[in-house]
Amino acid sequence: MKLEKSIELYTKGKRNLVGAVNSPVRAFKSVGGVPIFIEKAKGSKIYDVDGNEYIDFVLSYGPMILGHRHRKVESAIEKQLKRGYTFGASTKGEIDLAKIVCDAFPGMDKIRFVNSGTEAVLSAIRLARAYTGKDKIIKFSGCYHGHSDSLLVAAGSGLATLSLPGSKGVPEDAVKNTLIAEFNNIDSVEKHMNMNKDIAAVIIEPIAGNMGVVQPTRDFIQDLVELTKANDILLIADEVMTGFRSKFGGAQELLGIEADITCLGKVIGGGFPVGAYGARNEIMEMVSPLGDVYQAGTLSGNPIAMASGIATLTELKKLDIYPAFNKTARFLEKHIKLAAKENGVGVQVNRFGSMINAFFTKEEVTDFKSAQTSDTNKFKEFFWRMMENGVFLPPSQFESWFLASAMTKKDILKVKKAIYIAMESVGKMK
Ligand SMILES: *Cc1c(COP(=O)(O)O)cnc(C)c1O
Repeated sequence: MKLEKSIELYTKGKRNLVGAVNSPVRAFKSVGGVPIFIEKAKGSKIYDVDGNEYIDFVLSYGPMILGHRHRKVESAIEKQLKRGYTFGASTKGEIDLAKIVCDAFPGMDKIRFVNSGTEAVLSAIRLARAYTGKDKIIKFSGCYHGHSDSLLVAAGSGLATLSLPGSKGVPEDAVKNTLIAEFNNIDSVEKHMNMNKDIAAVIIEPIAGNMGVVQPTRDFIQDLVELTKANDILLIADEVMTGFRSKFGGAQELLGIEADITCLGKVIGGGFPVGAYGARNEIMEMVSPLGDVYQAGTLSGNPIAMASGIATLTELKKLDIYPAFNKTARFLEKHIKLAAKENGVGVQVNRFGSMINAFFTKEEVTDFKSAQTSDTNKFKEFFWRMMENGVFLPPSQFESWFLASAMTKKDILKVKKAIYIAMESVGKMK
């Protein structure tokens, strides 16, 4: 496949950008080769600078759930562009998006918009500590909650891909209040709770997407809700990836649970930098200017981002796309498994709603440890054969593939064909 222009840009980019990228997973480090540079995208398709066309399963790691440049989203953005980009004073769009989001999450009375998922989570943790008057937090191995200091431990995909245990530059003091538990293992949570009296919150991706897709067992998630309640510990649902993606009300609606604080991002900005955290009144009223938890942002609630978010969520709600996502994901699962079987390749397919991925392992994947039994060399082979056949997957074994409403039957049939070709190639590996 022709990648000359990407190679040229990659070489140029390395001079003034770190690794020629602004987020590590874009560097294609775990799949080798040259990272592609994008020229443009429309609907379900994305085009690199060499003119290669791909069906896009990266979708900017989730936000582009309607596909690229949806007509209604684009026209809402254009309208706002002509009124101005940012003011440092409030706009109606913020109120409108807040209402759409709060209506979708029963446990959420108020919300605060920020600029990224990272910012949403770090603010939620501060709020949980203030509300409970306690310091410690429990997080799960393999879950990613952005790159703030206290959460950069056992943090899933990006780090797992680069085989980093955590990050340099994070002082021990910053993580001494972070306790690590195992996903789908309630005993590992209970143990921490028995040994520590000062736990403010448990933070979880209710459906994990950053160690590949891993869903919780019903017992695990329900026990977690009960345990936190019984111990006056807040449950923080990090739905930056799953919010409006697994279902309109997020993973919580699917699982029938209600967290104390919910973090959002990705889809709610429809492609612009937006994050948010929300909770019931009693908790949110502790945030400045009503309360003493300080948190601010020059561009927070940016009018263009709000316009994009409102248009995206309004269209999503109208489409009621979730049953169709399930059907497509089921179809892909079936063919990944069939193709793997035909070629003697061990594969585990995990999926939930519009998130799906294939782990190259024979072991069932239920937590970070089992995810790591995957053969990343096989994934690498699979990834590049898919690229050659016009399918852009996230360049990591440990990232979810995302579906968009813009994907057509024809697209999915093309993907199916690519899967058989790629799997045959994996089967031939020694
Ligand atoms: C992407 C993600 C984040 C971080 O969001 P950014 O916008 O990249 O800062 C946090 N939590 C989860 C679950 C995510 O998937």
